[in-house]
Amino acid sequence: MSGSTSNRCSPNLSSMPVPQPARWHLLDQLGTRRIEKMIRKSSQNRSPKEQPLCCRQCGALVTHRSESIEQNGAHCHTFTNPQQIRFTIGCFGSADGCRCEGGASTEHTWFSGYAWRIALCGSCGQHLGWRFERSTGRFFGRILDHLVECGHRSQ
Ligand SMILES: [Zn+2]
Repeated sequence: MSGSTSNRCSPNLSSMPVPQPARWHLLDQLGTRRIEKMIRKSSQNRSPKEQPLCCRQCGALVTHRSESIEQNGAHCHTFTNPQQIRFTIGCFGSADGCRCEGGASTEHTWFSGYAWRIALCGSCGQHLGWRFERSTGRFFGRILDHLVECGHRSQ
C-alpha cells in the first residue's frame, strides 16, 4: 500500500481498497431491522410507565419511568453548563439508586429557586445528574444519555 498513513484519523481514502457498497447496504439494513424489532418487542412487553431505568455503566437500578414528572411544563430539558457541556435531562420525583455528593449550590442553577447537588450512581459512582431542592420540595434531573432501560445495558 503506498499512500500516506501519517494521520490516523483521516486515512488516505484513495489508497484503500474500495468497499462493496451492496454488501454494506445489506448489513446496515439487517442491523437496523433487528434493532427496530428489539425496540418494538421491549415496548410491547411492559407498559412504558413501569419500565425500570438503570445506570448505563453498571446496570444498577436507578429509577422508574413511573417516577417521571414535569418541571416548568416539561419532563425533558436541555441545558448547557458553564463549561459548555450540553446535557439533556429528564425530571424524576425520586431516584433511589443515587447518592448525592457535595453541598447544595444555587450557582448557575437551571431551575430558578432550586439549589442543586451532584447525584452519582450509588453503585459505580457514574455521574447521573443532579438533585434540585428547595424548602418546599425536591426532584432529580437525570442525564438521559446515562440511563438505559434495565436489561438493555450497552456493552
Ligand atoms: Zn452505575
